[in-house]
Amino acid sequence: MSLLPPCPRCLLSEIDGQTVYRSVKAYVDSLPEELRAPAELVRSRLAVCKSCDCLLSGMCVKCGCFVEARAAKAVQHCPFTPSKW
Ligand code: SF4
Repeated sequence: MSLLPPCPRCLLSEIDGQTVYRSVKAYVDSLPEELRAPAELVRSRLAVCKSCDCLLSGMCVKCGCFVEARAAKAVQHCPFTPSKW
């Protein structure tokens, strides 16, 4: 399995949901410990995303990222409203 992040340009019709999730999870699991955000910070970031109108099927429509991948990294922010997280 590739450890590269999923290609945001792929159409969802080209990849099923489980494959996308497995790919995102593999990417997150591959992050070196020093680059990871603490689990509680990840949870709070994702709670913000879950209440955001820009979330669509795990993807931020503002930037095309998979929010679970973005939130997992320590040095990251919401690309649309950095004050959110
Ligand atoms: S990253 Fe920001 S804009 Fe995107 S879904 Fe999360 S809170 Fe919304």
